[in-house]
Amino acid sequence: MNAMNFIEPEERIALRKAVAELGAKYGHEYYARKARADEKTHELWDEAGRLGYLGVNIPEEYGGGGAGIADLAAVLEELAAAGSPLLLMVVSPAICGTVISRFGTEEQKKQWLPGIADGTKRMVFAITEPDAGSNSHRITTTARRDSGGWVLNGRKVYISGVDEADAVLVVGRTEDAKTGKLKPALFILPSGTPGFEYTKIPMDIVAPEDQFSLFLDDVHLPAEALVGEEDAAIAQLFAGLNPERIMGASFSLGIARYALAKAVGYANERQVWGAPIGTHQGLAHPLAEIKIELELAKLMTQKAASLYDSGDDFGAGESANMAKYAAAEVAIRATDQAVQTHGGNGLATEYGLGTLVTAVRLGRIAPVSREMVLNFVGQHSLGLPKSY
Ligand SMILES: Cc1cc2nc3c(=O)[nH]c(=O)nc-3n(C[C@H](O)[C@H](O)[C@H](O)COP(=O)(O)OP(=O)(O)OC[C@H]3O[C@@H](n4cnc5c(N)ncnc54)[C@H](O)[C@@H]3O)c2cc1C
Repeated sequence: MNAMNFIEPEERIALRKAVAELGAKYGHEYYARKARADEKTHELWDEAGRLGYLGVNIPEEYGGGGAGIADLAAVLEELAAAGSPLLLMVVSPAICGTVISRFGTEEQKKQWLPGIADGTKRMVFAITEPDAGSNSHRITTTARRDSGGWVLNGRKVYISGVDEADAVLVVGRTEDAKTGKLKPALFILPSGTPGFEYTKIPMDIVAPEDQFSLFLDDVHLPAEALVGEEDAAIAQLFAGLNPERIMGASFSLGIARYALAKAVGYANERQVWGAPIGTHQGLAHPLAEIKIELELAKLMTQKAASLYDSGDDFGAGESANMAKYAAAEVAIRATDQAVQTHGGNGLATEYGLGTLVTAVRLGRIAPVSREMVLNFVGQHSLGLPKSY
């Protein structure tokens, strides 16, 4: 009888260990200090890039590690578990790296993948628009053909890391000159292109990455800016969505592990009734529940990554959505319970938990909201009528 293999390959276990060591060298104190000073975690990003961790999923011929999204997800989870959840890993190597590797032209691969792999280039991802929101079908950023190239007009919101990016992968629509019909298409928009401006959105998240509104006003791009085939853009977009969700799950899982470890450490030490507070089941049971929910969410994330890496985009979709949902929920619970376990100390800067309270809430909203995941599961997994 064949047993399913629930043990990660040796290489990934070794990768996790090495990344955890790098994460520990920096620690949450570094991450929080940078975030509060409105600075970036470039030292950690650059070192992770030099060591090859940011590009494990990029094909070897373009400077990457030639492994899968499961390995990249392990890198993000370990860094987050060490207190440094690097949000831009979700967009640069996972979404942009995947879409360009799978659908980009040879020129685009040569120009962008080696830099994305070693961290010297960052590409961010822009789909969300103010008037479309969760309904991506309503996006209005439009690409018009113009003397062999493209002219883009539109607006995007909540785009992460634009100030530190070399380019933005923009999801727009082409305006078909003959029929006037609009089709989705992806464009690589280099930073500094005339007509492309952005402003920072003040956020209540303590994180080194910032969020931006984008304004595209008659932005001229060459024909080569279009990623892959114009008619295959839907497939290209979907190819990026599963890695995005799997990485979103790993971001949350890492933070959940960080918070749970802090809570357990404190519950074993702190005494107010002559025994460690972890003796009280009122504190021990919630932590035990979180441990169970964390392991379940991790298992689903590994299933999603494994299906994705085996080429099963469809099967990965359901698990990636479920993993993102479960990981976000356990991260919120773990962080909240870790604060509670610490009592007043839970909100003191020194204990490094308050920083993550809003960061984990992000997992319930982005890259796809809890409600949109539930819509997906209701409709596709359960066969219920579409609700919207
Ligand atoms: C910190 C941060 C970073 C982000 N980074 C990026 C990025 O790099 N690139 C990018 O493109 N986007 C990014 N986003 C945007 C993010 O993906 C969106 O905020 C998210 O998809 C939700 O869209 P919305 O904000 O427009 O909410 P809306 O679509 O307006 O939804 C508002 C509420 O209504 C609910 N809702 C909407 N439709 C339905 C429905 N049919 N059924 C039930 N409930 C529904 C939603 O779940 C939500 O609770 C980021 C957002 C944040 C906060």
